[in-house]
Amino acid sequence: MAIAVITGAASGIGAAVREQFVAAGMEVIGIDLKRADVRADLSTAAGLRSALDDVLQRTGGTIDRLICCAGLGPQAEPPGRTAAVNYFGAVALLDGLFDALKRGTNPAAVVVASSSAVLQSWADNPLRDAYLGGDEARVQALVATLPAEQAGYVAYASSKYAVSVAVRQRAAAWGNARVRLNVVAPGAVQTPLLEAGLSDPRYSEAIRNFVAPLGRRAEAHEIATLIGFVASEQAAFVHGSVLFIDGGLDASARPFDF
Ligand code: NAD
Repeated sequence: MAIAVITGAASGIGAAVREQFVAAGMEVIGIDLKRADVRADLSTAAGLRSALDDVLQRTGGTIDRLICCAGLGPQAEPPGRTAAVNYFGAVALLDGLFDALKRGTNPAAVVVASSSAVLQSWADNPLRDAYLGGDEARVQALVATLPAEQAGYVAYASSKYAVSVAVRQRAAAWGNARVRLNVVAPGAVQTPLLEAGLSDPRYSEAIRNFVAPLGRRAEAHEIATLIGFVASEQAAFVHGSVLFIDGGLDASARPFDF
């Protein structure tokens, strides 16, 4: 039976992936703050260490699928925690479970980023070098200097761009090891994270206006279906890619770029 590890498995997209993987006969180990097989706070070094130890012990050091869904939105406080979970937590899980994936069968990992990551300039982003250098203290210090009305969104979008870059940076080594690694980048998805943003006056209008050409938000199971495909053997040549699933949002926001 294939073993899948899913972070953020208690809610939203992660819970939908869990449901689909269980239905497909996989053994799923969910990691989350609560309502999970492995309860851990992926924003802290201690939480990451205990999550990795627990997962490696439960799996005997062999994993077939890793899906990094855990994340916080722009409204989460403090904004530095968003950068910690979305970037540093995801990268720690990827690197900490790489050897276990190498021992898996047709192994694959998927990181959930966001199509909104490309709506800010990455080249001019003040956090870029700190992310690329893996300097969490510097990222936290820079986020703390941002104006309060921008900090959450900048922390969110930059963390999602940075984690997409982290995947691309690993494509050569992971490909050589025959472990596939990709990003799925959703647009607006109807989940508790999005609901929390809608009820925050700082972000509600922007989220309401973040409407896809298809005229609706995605449901979590639609994102889970793409994640499941990308992680499956049917996608055996998909590697190092960032796959948008946003109902046409990015194309309509940037019609002259890709
Ligand atoms: P969600 O809030 O329903 O689920 C996120 C899960 O992550 C929750 O169960 C939460 O407890 C967990 N989590 C958060 N912080 C954690 C921590 N410190 N340690 C362990 N677990 C933690 O949200 P969702 O919309 O399903 O989000 C899943 C992923 O999709 C996130 O990475 C999010 O950024 C991304 N995303 C969501 C949308 C959207 O519109 N909903 C759009 C683009 C990308």
